[in-house]
Amino acid sequence: MHEGPAPKKGLQQLKRFQIFCDFDGTLAEKDVGQQFFLTFSDPKVSEEAVTAWLNGEISSAEMYRRELAVTRATRDQIHQFTMSQRLSEGAVELIRRCQQAGDEVFVVSDGFAAYIRTILDKFGLQALPLFANDLTLDATGQLRPVFPYLEHSCGRCANCKGYHVRRLRKEGLLQVYIGDGFSDRCAVTQVEIVFAKRDLAKFCDEKGIAYYAFQNFKDIQSILEKIRRSE
Ligand SMILES: [Mg+2]
Ligand SMILES: [Zn+2]
Repeated sequence: MHEGPAPKKGLQQLKRFQIFCDFDGTLAEKDVGQQFFLTFSDPKVSEEAVTAWLNGEISSAEMYRRELAVTRATRDQIHQFTMSQRLSEGAVELIRRCQQAGDEVFVVSDGFAAYIRTILDKFGLQALPLFANDLTLDATGQLRPVFPYLEHSCGRCANCKGYHVRRLRKEGLLQVYIGDGFSDRCAVTQVEIVFAKRDLAKFCDEKGIAYYAFQNFKDIQSILEKIRRSE
C-alpha cells in the first residue's frame, strides 16, 4: 500500500518540561553563597561548618546558623556584593525559550533569597518562582537565617529540594533537574532527567543515577530541544 508523507508533528506532541534549577554555581556562574561567607564571615568557622555538613554531621540549617553567628555585613555591602554576580552563559535564553514552549521553570536553592532575588531581578528574571531560605538583618548588623521549608526537610537540608520536586509534580510534564552540588542530592533521585556537574555528577556516578554532563546552559538547551522532539 502506498504511504503518504509522514504527518507533521503537531505542537501537542512536543514534550513539555518542569525544570528545577539550582542557583549557586548552576544558574549563577559562581557559588554566590560560598562567596558571601568567604567575604563576610569568619573563614575558619565557615570552613569547619561546611566540612561538618559535607561529612553529614550537621544539617545545612545548623551549618548556616554557625556561619551567620559570625557574619557581619551592612545592607549596602550585601547589595554591592550581590550586584557584582553573574548568571551562567545561556541561562536567561534557556529560561525564556522554555517558558515560551510552555515549560514550568523553578529556582530551588538551599541558599538565601536575600541575594538570589537581587541577581534574578538584575537579569530580568524577577517573575521566576524561587524556593529558598532567607535572611533578616537587624539594626545592629546581625544576620539571621529564616527557613520557611525546614519542617519539610529530610534532616540534611534546610530547604530540601526533593520536597519541591514531589509537591510540584504535574501530570504531562517531564521533571528536569539542573545542579552542581550536594544540596541537589535529594532532588535528582526523583526526576526523569538530570543535568549534573561537579559534586552532583560525582554523586550521580556513585549512586548509578543517569545524567547529562554540561558546561553551560547552551548545552542543556540543545539536549532539551532534542528530547522535546523525540518520540
Ligand atoms: Mg549549587
Ligand atoms: Zn534533603
